[in-house]
Amino acid sequence: MIIVGMVLKMSNKYKTIYADPPWNERGAGKIKRGADRDYELMKTEEIIDMKDFSSDKNINRKSGGSEISNVLLVDVDSKIPNLALMKISAYHKDHNDNVGFHVSDPDIVYASVVFTENEHRVDGLKFWYPDAEIRIGGSGYDISKKLPNEVEYIKPDYSLYPEIDYSIGFTTRGCIRSCDFCVVPKKEGKICRWQHPKNFHDEQFDKIKLLDNNILGDKEWFFEVTDWILDNEIKVEFNQGLDIRLLDQDIANRLVELNHYKTLKFAWDHPEDEEQIKQGIEQLRRADMDLRNKTQFYVLTNFDTTHKEDLYRCRKLKEWGTNPFVMMFKDGDEFTRHLARWANRKWILWSCDFTEYDKLPLKVRLELKSFD
Ligand code: SF4
Repeated sequence: MIIVGMVLKMSNKYKTIYADPPWNERGAGKIKRGADRDYELMKTEEIIDMKDFSSDKNINRKSGGSEISNVLLVDVDSKIPNLALMKISAYHKDHNDNVGFHVSDPDIVYASVVFTENEHRVDGLKFWYPDAEIRIGGSGYDISKKLPNEVEYIKPDYSLYPEIDYSIGFTTRGCIRSCDFCVVPKKEGKICRWQHPKNFHDEQFDKIKLLDNNILGDKEWFFEVTDWILDNEIKVEFNQGLDIRLLDQDIANRLVELNHYKTLKFAWDHPEDEEQIKQGIEQLRRADMDLRNKTQFYVLTNFDTTHKEDLYRCRKLKEWGTNPFVMMFKDGDEFTRHLARWANRKWILWSCDFTEYDKLPLKVRLELKSFD
């Protein structure tokens, strides 16, 4: 079988395959007369099997088989550039489609919802675009929905968000832990290596934003990835934070060696982890990390801890020289909102203790007294 013409290779798949000859000549006897003098011919079954090489029609064509040309992307609520939409955009551009946030008369509409409370915002899409195929995804809509491989591993279309000045991607997916409040284990499962940053980094940028949920869960890979980042003199951000409980002195030294363009984020979610948090901070200090200016710890509140435990964690982190940042699992009550106002503003945090914060209402002050 000789395939003489192929266009638009996508992750080992092809949008169009030209094959010559596409039929099996018969009746020539032992003497070869035509193309079969140069190469073997194809049987009908072999031609049918070639569908496995063609690209996924669910992605690049409307159902029914007609070519699509207009693809509208809807970014419902992303707080950072929407990586899935960037990949979908790259994929459709590779197929010569007209794709973007302002495409009219769409054949397909892709909408991404990150937060469940915004799920209703896509309800009207079918009304606005009755003739289009509506495809909705994102953690806030359906955590089981995944991009097909030929889209997932494509280099994102950075021109979709012209304001960004960094590359973005996951080098791992999943996590070694299973915290009750977190969607990652349900959505992504156990940690696995995903993509080397060289496959999504764009050389126009000198920064890279890693979206890994727990890259330290695979120490060897963390060093491989950060070796590449150092070799290429790229500034890095670990956007989802790092697991301080997995720190050792080698990792702490590496974190100091890297050029971070954003504050290094960790978390102290469970009060019982105090000893591990303290040790991790000590390792960072030994590595000469500027804790006060370069590190921050999320303090989960309003989930399964008391106000007293929340305040304790904030105070301890301050005592150890780093910055607490109060995260509210759901809308905070009065106490938690004031705790966040004090802890999350560095200039207030470092100027007074929570008890001295002069904006506290009487109710909060009375509760504080009961802690003693
Ligand atoms: S360690 Fe982080 S990513 Fe992993 S399950 Fe817990 S909160 Fe989620």
